Amino acid sequence: MSTVLHDVIVVGAGPVGASLALALADADLDIVVLDARPESGLPGSDRSIALSHGARLIFERLQVWAELARTPGAVTPITDIDISQAGGFGTAGLHARDHHLPALGYVVSYSALQAALDTALTRARIPVRYGATVAHAGGTPAYAGVNVAGESGPLLGRLAVIADGSGAHVAGLSRRRHDYEQTALVAKVWCRQPPHGLAYERFTPDGPVALLPENDHYALVWTGSPAAVQALLATDDASFLARLALRFGGRRTGFTAIAQRRSFPLALEVAPSTVSTRCAVIGNAAQALHPVAGQGFNLGLRDAYELARIVIDTPVESIGNPSMLARYARHRRWDRWAGVALTHGLLGLFGNASPWLRWPRGIALAMLDAMPPAKHMFTHAMLFGAHL
Ligand SMILES: Cc1cc2nc3c(=O)[nH]c(=O)nc-3n(C[C@H](O)[C@H](O)[C@H](O)COP(=O)(O)OP(=O)(O)OC[C@H]3O[C@@H](n4cnc5c(N)ncnc54)[C@H](O)[C@@H]3O)c2cc1C
Repeated sequence: MSTVLHDVIVVGAGPVGASLALALADADLDIVVLDARPESGLPGSDRSIALSHGARLIFERLQVWAELARTPGAVTPITDIDISQAGGFGTAGLHARDHHLPALGYVVSYSALQAALDTALTRARIPVRYGATVAHAGGTPAYAGVNVAGESGPLLGRLAVIADGSGAHVAGLSRRRHDYEQTALVAKVWCRQPPHGLAYERFTPDGPVALLPENDHYALVWTGSPAAVQALLATDDASFLARLALRFGGRRTGFTAIAQRRSFPLALEVAPSTVSTRCAVIGNAAQALHPVAGQGFNLGLRDAYELARIVIDTPVESIGNPSMLARYARHRRWDRWAGVALTHGLLGLFGNASPWLRWPRGIALAMLDAMPPAKHMFTHAMLFGAHL
């Protein structure tokens, strides 16, 4: 068994774990980060994620944003969002200018974000052990123990933070799963007119479809039943684009090309409790959401940032003790459940084929569009999270 007692052991140097480690970088703590991927082992295939303006502010504080923004083609601002439903009335528009912001959010390359975070970890001299696959994490009242596959004794720490995207190996924590029986098809789509910062969220009875501006094209996220997505993956480009145009019913037209079609199964997975003895779970390890509102990573980033603030605020000898962990869990409860409720509620109201819901849906969209205070509150919660 190791005799070194680290202050914080971070499991997972993905976007959330790396952000936590960077937020702790100046705190004069003994931190070690473990990740299963090999050094410089970025994901083989890239995908796009939508970051909110609030996430940009956190990355600016962590000194990651400038590096990311310098990477050619890695960041595209979203200045306006057009929300509509297929086969029903009611639309809503969200605009950055109404909030005096340069953008509501940004479409970012996951690989470029990970590369910028890896560079920042190196610059901050935070020790990262790549190729270290964690098989188990748990705790006693005195310390957390983290077992790395193939190593004899556990690493010991005051606190183990699990940011491995699944939370599968943590003692004392469970996850609840709701299978949406939906799959997301992601692809890149070109139109005759470039996106100019305008994103589309289109609710259809079979599931939401989003077009996110990304350089000269859109990142498409089309959700549907596994069988429907299988058929979309198999169809030729021309038929695919014709079906996409049909889905958008004239709201967006002129689709000319499609590339890089891939699919992901969709489920909601939530850990009812995010803390156990000497351990905390954050990011997708704590909650994996449906991508409908593009909230998953933004919520995970806020987990990381808030946990870092609480750790920094805690005397070293009390890091990871029950009262610090209870404070963290209490602090994040409202924002987490609001994120889950927003995602789940949107799918219940808008991803439902019932014709009875067409009117309430239309009224909800029309009210959102016509009532500036409601729109402001909604947009604020999307950009910065929910706080009591
Ligand atoms: C199709 C799709 C679209 C999405 N779109 C959006 C969007 O628009 N906006 C948004 O906010 N979110 C979106 N998300 C969600 C977003 O991608 C996740 O929230 C984000 O990747 C979570 O980051 P993370 O660091 O918690 O986990 P991950 O990104 O999964 O990183 C986990 C890290 O842990 C490491 N690891 C895993 N297991 C172990 C182990 N046993 N031991 C050691 N290390 C380990 C991995 O190598 C990895 O580096 C989307 C997700 C999908 C599937």
